[in-house]
Amino acid sequence: MGSKFIRVKCNDCENEQVIFNKASSIVKCLICGRTLAEPRGGKANIKTQILEVLG
Ligand SMILES: [Zn+2]
Repeated sequence: MGSKFIRVKCNDCENEQVIFNKASSIVKCLICGRTLAEPRGGKANIKTQILEVLG
């Protein structure tokens, strides 16, 4: 498993956003501020719906 970009959809406002799977800080929805991913052990713990892994 290398570094990947992941397309996710916010569970609250349905905003689609591309995030990195190795988050070093909390990633929030740009529209509503919901937490989409948080760092855990050097990887991102995705907290919302994953639409697509972009590779
Ligand atoms: Zn949102």
